[in-house]
Amino acid sequence: MALEEYARKRRFDATPEPAPKDADTEAGNYFCVQRHDATRLHYDFRLEIGGVLKSWAVPKGPTLDPAVRHFAAMVEDHPVEYGGFEGTIPAGNYGAGSVMLWDRGTFELLGGVEGEAQIARGDLKFRLHGEKLNGDFALVHMKGRGKGNEWLILKKRDEFAAPGWDVEAHAYSVLSGRTQEEIARNLPARETHRATAGAADRTWESRPVKRAAKTAESTAPAPPVKKKSPLIQAG
Ligand code: MN
Repeated sequence: MALEEYARKRRFDATPEPAPKDADTEAGNYFCVQRHDATRLHYDFRLEIGGVLKSWAVPKGPTLDPAVRHFAAMVEDHPVEYGGFEGTIPAGNYGAGSVMLWDRGTFELLGGVEGEAQIARGDLKFRLHGEKLNGDFALVHMKGRGKGNEWLILKKRDEFAAPGWDVEAHAYSVLSGRTQEEIARNLPARETHRATAGAADRTWESRPVKRAAKTAESTAPAPPVKKKSPLIQAG
């Protein structure tokens, strides 16, 4: 398994991120995207392949617009448990900043080739069943470039393609409904997790103070979806 780099970068007595366990031998098909307000805001795109979350950092985020290709830097594998994580990595730790569980769901590999083999060839094709992201995508390795970890993520043209789609118009958590600032301030989960959540008219200042007591419970990492989950399309 390939979680040594993940473990080496982190001190698990100082960060709420999960420590790696043994690689998950059950073949899952979870995917997630975490919006990570670190040194630079980026989206971490993760697919469960080979018992770990294969991971790419995407500065501009994934998109449903088939006309654009966004840069995606392949980063170290993450444990499957990481796919349910939302919270704040304290200052001074690797990746310090707030992490939002921006999307999650399941995926299918396309083309009848195993995930590791598709990554090795530098052309990974998959279909997402998320709450925000749906349809066919590809991750394509830009061979012979820079450090060798440079990929592009792109949306295929299908019924889920949405020209002009703006990732930042969907900046709320599918786990807690919170905005990035609400996560950073460790505020409690919202009652609604979807379209109205994160709207500009719902600011953290307006929340009743008494609900802050529920914060610890509401921000606990949830286990990732293992199999087929009830899927709700973003509409
Ligand atoms: Mn990150």
